[in-house]
Amino acid sequence: MSDEVGTFLLLGASGDLAGRLLLPALGQLLDREPERRSTVLIGAGSEPWDAEQWRDHVRTALASAEVASDTVTAVLETTRYLQADVTKAEDLRRLLGEGPPAPAIYFALPPAVTVASCEALREVELPAGTVLALEKPFGTDAASAASLNQLLTRLVDDEHVQRVDHFLGRSTVLNVLGVRFANRLFEPLWSNQHVESVTVVYDEQLTLENRARYYDGAGAMADMIQSHLLQVMALVAMEPPATVNARDLRDAKAAVLRACRPWRGDPVAASRRARYTAGTIEDRQVPNYVDEPGVDPARQTETLAEVDLEIDNWRWAGVPFRLRSGKALERRRKEIVITFKPPPHVPSGLRGDPAPARLRLALGPDRMSWEMNVNGPDDPFTLDRVTLDTKLSPGRLPAYGEVLAGVLDADPFLSVRGDTAEQCWRILEPVIGAWRSGEVPLDSYPAGSTGPPDWPKA
Ligand code: NDP
Repeated sequence: MSDEVGTFLLLGASGDLAGRLLLPALGQLLDREPERRSTVLIGAGSEPWDAEQWRDHVRTALASAEVASDTVTAVLETTRYLQADVTKAEDLRRLLGEGPPAPAIYFALPPAVTVASCEALREVELPAGTVLALEKPFGTDAASAASLNQLLTRLVDDEHVQRVDHFLGRSTVLNVLGVRFANRLFEPLWSNQHVESVTVVYDEQLTLENRARYYDGAGAMADMIQSHLLQVMALVAMEPPATVNARDLRDAKAAVLRACRPWRGDPVAASRRARYTAGTIEDRQVPNYVDEPGVDPARQTETLAEVDLEIDNWRWAGVPFRLRSGKALERRRKEIVITFKPPPHVPSGLRGDPAPARLRLALGPDRMSWEMNVNGPDDPFTLDRVTLDTKLSPGRLPAYGEVLAGVLDADPFLSVRGDTAEQCWRILEPVIGAWRSGEVPLDSYPAGSTGPPDWPKA
């Protein structure tokens, strides 16, 4: 952990992310860690809010997370709001003059506005220790991610750039590391010798939820797989780091991502995409995606994406890693599934085919379950399936709270390093290219289903 910052400068403070996720998470963090209450929150946005309107906005956001009243009072005592065009250097200078030095600047802005704002920051002298926190998506391809990286390194060193990945909080990352590396049981099995396949899934029941302006330009591949699921995969597949500090962890993740590409180098056979049509999710009628306000059907945006990847190294050669994410699906599912190979021999006399053993790591709330074969309670010669299941780290902060702690502490543990952000685009560019040129059909599935019926089971 390095220099802590004293000002949280929230650009785009009137937007959806700020109101729905960041302000509530900040409140929860300050509740949990009262020593941080001296942090000064400064909001900036295009709304012409006065001080009372801003305080109402903050109060409502904190109430949504049931933040304790003394935390709310502490935040409201010092917080300020400034109407500003954050793409203008003079406005940014004015904002930076508002709080104590060493600010964290959080860009809760549309991606193109974030880039314009960073351009404008070149004309502004940033206080030493300034942290820049950028949201996903980071660039739109490897080249744009590289040029954004170049721009950022002209402003602060890479350690002070946080490319936010809120998908896994610190506790979840540590849970995955703990299961893998603190048990002699798993790590010796963690390779192509014993693992059949790995799946990382994020299925949502949520639909577009009025976010067409962002989502229809992104789709499931850029929104989830490129931004988040590759990071999860890297955590599962990386070599053991010597420590759990940011440098070792990020080095290990970067190395495994550099070895990754579409399965068998064939982006067409290795990927699937689909878009939801009208349907029902738990008694809720969901309209056809293309009929949602703000959607342009010609964009052919996928709401469900799947890609099979391989990792060309000694440990993983030949093991498929399937990454899948989609909206408007039958059930919510956020998990890593490690499927082990079948046993090489089952003693004759034991009846039943042993299904592969499976380790499931459910993410947020974290759970671990181990599906295995045992001799059943009735006929002891017949194999039965049992699941050992346990909760992990109950009561932890929501992921955005842990992200904000990292931003305020200038600790890049959860942040995606610049080279890794470029790698994630490099891995998926052949797939995205094949989709753009129509080589992979856009399938459909009714909202509330498990996806197109002929897709392989994930
Ligand atoms: P919104 O469009 O809701 O919010 C962006 C805010 O930035 C708006 O309040 C907008 O004001 C303001 N803004 C735009 N241009 C300027 C400017 N020049 N000067 C000052 N303010 C400006 O977007 P989101 O909050 O949804 O998303 C922000 C970022 O967070 C995106 O990168 C998104 O991908 C990411 N993200 C969002 C999530 C979410 O659930 N919303 C989840 C994860 C990531 P106005 O509308 O008046 O222009």
